[in-house]
Amino acid sequence: MNQKIYEGKAKILYATDDPEILLTHFKDDATAFNAQKKGQIRRKGEINCAIATHLFKFLETQGIPTHFIAQTAPDRMQVTAVKIIPLEVVVRNIAAGSFVARTGIEFGTLLKYPIVEFFYKNDNLGDPLFTEDHIQLLELATPAQVIQLREMALSINNFLQKFFSDRHLTLVDFKLEFGCERSGNILLADEISPDTCRLWDDLTSDPNQKIMDKDRFRQDLGNVATAYEEVLARVKL
Ligand code: ADP
Ligand code: MG
Repeated sequence: MNQKIYEGKAKILYATDDPEILLTHFKDDATAFNAQKKGQIRRKGEINCAIATHLFKFLETQGIPTHFIAQTAPDRMQVTAVKIIPLEVVVRNIAAGSFVARTGIEFGTLLKYPIVEFFYKNDNLGDPLFTEDHIQLLELATPAQVIQLREMALSINNFLQKFFSDRHLTLVDFKLEFGCERSGNILLADEISPDTCRLWDDLTSDPNQKIMDKDRFRQDLGNVATAYEEVLARVKL
């Protein structure tokens, strides 16, 4: 039996015989608004594990170092154990979500260039937006690491934008987490899935039907599992 070392909102982490390797179990549980809204999405664990596996493998081929080692079951992934940098690194191509409320830029506006934002990964504080000064003051990352996180996030954005647009999906925005290996090397960690990306279907103009991500759950739009299944089907193309 693997020892459970952490249970989060969407995944469970287990230790393995090798201290450098963890096992991630993807759950069907879904939460939104800092876990005030809770539910389940049918088969989400398997779907997100499959999507994340595919995207990590793709990004590795593009030269992005990730924590992915292997998918060991439909809802399980072996990953390199890292020390997570407690920042949610968000890249935005189109105005949506909290960005609209913060900037007054109209929902759906194509941004002149991709925007990178850092949020302090701290549920008790509600994951606040952090400036670089906040990051330095709390010693969450060094200035050089912040530069590297930004560069990695922007190049991941370039690769994923093209990947999804080839599959008739628009990558509106997404959240990344990074971690340090023992050597200090920074790896892309956690997951990339419809839980962590906003994806809009290019094949319909209906504003509600376009939404193919966790916003369907947040906003009670229905057909949540169907949308996740469709993203997986397109990712596999
Ligand atoms: P949370 O509710 O904190 O978002 P999740 O349900 O997403 O948690 O579970 C994943 C947890 O594991 C997150 O806290 C994430 O930062 C962490 N994590 C992801 N990848 C790794 C890794 N390779 N090594 C160590 N921790 C990781
Ligand atoms: Mg998480």
